[in-house]
Amino acid sequence: MVQTYDVIVIGGGHNGLVHAAYLARAGKKVLVLERRHVLGGAAVTEEVFPGFQFSVASYVVSLLRPEIIRELDLPRHGLEILPLDGTFTPMPSGDYLWRVNDHAKTRREIQRHSRVDAEAYEEYGKAMVDMGRFVKPILSLTPPDPTRLDWKGLFELLRLGRRFQKLSWQDQYNQVQLMTMSAVDFLDQWFETDVLKATMSASGIIGTFLGVRSPGTAYVLLHHYMGEIDGAFRSWGFARGGTGAISNAIAEAAREAGAEIRTESPIARILTKNGRATGVALESGEEIGASVVSSSVDPRLTFFRMVGRKELPEEFAEDIERYKFRGSSGKVNLALDGLPDFTCLPGPGAHLRGAISISPSVEYMERAYDDAKYGRYSRRPYIDIVIPSLTDPSVAPPGKHVLSCFVQYAPYHLKNGDWDKEREAFGDTVVAAIAEFAPNIRDRILHRQVLTPLDIERTFGLTEGNIFQGELTLEQLFFLRPAPGWAQYTTPIRSLYMCGSAAHPGGGIMGAPGKNAAMKVLHDWK
Ligand SMILES: Cc1cc2nc3c(=O)[nH]c(=O)nc-3n(C[C@H](O)[C@H](O)[C@H](O)COP(=O)(O)OP(=O)(O)OC[C@H]3O[C@@H](n4cnc5c(N)ncnc54)[C@H](O)[C@@H]3O)c2cc1C
Repeated sequence: MVQTYDVIVIGGGHNGLVHAAYLARAGKKVLVLERRHVLGGAAVTEEVFPGFQFSVASYVVSLLRPEIIRELDLPRHGLEILPLDGTFTPMPSGDYLWRVNDHAKTRREIQRHSRVDAEAYEEYGKAMVDMGRFVKPILSLTPPDPTRLDWKGLFELLRLGRRFQKLSWQDQYNQVQLMTMSAVDFLDQWFETDVLKATMSASGIIGTFLGVRSPGTAYVLLHHYMGEIDGAFRSWGFARGGTGAISNAIAEAAREAGAEIRTESPIARILTKNGRATGVALESGEEIGASVVSSSVDPRLTFFRMVGRKELPEEFAEDIERYKFRGSSGKVNLALDGLPDFTCLPGPGAHLRGAISISPSVEYMERAYDDAKYGRYSRRPYIDIVIPSLTDPSVAPPGKHVLSCFVQYAPYHLKNGDWDKEREAFGDTVVAAIAEFAPNIRDRILHRQVLTPLDIERTFGLTEGNIFQGELTLEQLFFLRPAPGWAQYTTPIRSLYMCGSAAHPGGGIMGAPGKNAAMKVLHDWK
């Protein structure tokens, strides 16, 4: 075995890169090995059609930890976040709901639909910020293990309990509700306007195989509420140059600190000796040794494909087998020669610069899930649309646009047929759902890229196409992610760590698992 490193990082997604950057800054000799020709994993920009730069998978940023932006000096390495203002929801009645970051405007807009809701919206916003503030410190915490409490874990749990105790009774009550209720049940307690509840509940189902009425989705609502840009809660933005620009900025920070990064270097196996990771074997046959191996790919790939089941304790292997992926999302990227024209608010305007949400009613959302439950993609799907070229013209030729559609539901396991045969029909369904509200869309399309959950798995190595490397459901969070007893970035294989979205605090362009795991590696190094 040649060339020994302190740490080998499997995967050059944004978390693997964050992990590498912190370790290199601490003086470790680090090598990142990425399977694809391009860095970033699901946070990647690619020129899919000549002149059109697409954030092929993830498309907006909100959760990226501000301390990581600061500590890695990402703006100096090219990161620039541009604001994404508002959510526009067209309705079949010819009306619409358009919420923006300006409170007074949004209040007036909601008042058009319901005076009561306009009042409640303010209170709801404040309550969610309080909830977010309570949960936020948990993101940078190594989860305590309740089954093996050492003094540090006990201290963390006590501190959490104390913070919970200090919340007002109303906030305590909200917190428990968020952990247990469905997004719609939770929102029903605040609002009466159907379209408002429908479009707000959408954040509760992203990346899960659950419907807006399924218990547990209220928490996912909060997870997406915690985004923070420059200290403002609940704000989302675009990275100039697409989400790949985030990964590239992190890669630059890692390189500057001395990390070595190799693309087109797929890893076949993690080498072990006497229960300890000793390095990796690439698909090319090359073997590279290291004191520590950190995996930013999901647990199924890490443990079953790269380590091998027989190396694992039986109980742990069973837990990893039970870990749920259940991909439910697809992506349709369109290159356009002009803008879509919404019947309910014609012409180009600021409403096209934010998110455009095809979520006209709670029933529409729940029916979209009904299809998925029975093994087919939604006939009328929920779609989250953005047109980044309006904010960042560098991503499309002059006068042209890129339009990104995040789509649910697209179940990985289809009851009839297979995704290779259904791909274009799925793309047609998405375009038809948009055309109900913006009939000119079909005439504007120059090129179309359709990503099914199978394509997401094949392209990005995300098992079953789950966008978060495993569902963000309560039974897979905090001290249970990815398995009970193994949420502290360590694994039953000594010197093998987990540093991607399958570790606490989970998916999204956040960087937190990568950084937390780096701190754990450095702590253990001592
Ligand atoms: C369609 C889609 C839309 C999304 N939208 C958003 C969004 O708008 N906002 C948001 O915050 N989040 C979004 N997400 C989620 C977010 O992008 C991911 O949670 C996050 O990027 C995961 O980062 P990661 O570094 O943990 O893992 P990954 O990005 O999965 O990185 C893992 C890396 O490992 C590499 N790899 C795999 N196997 C091997 C191997 N054998 N050898 C070497 N390398 C290997 C992969 O190629 C990949 O580069 C979306 C995800 C998808 C798929």
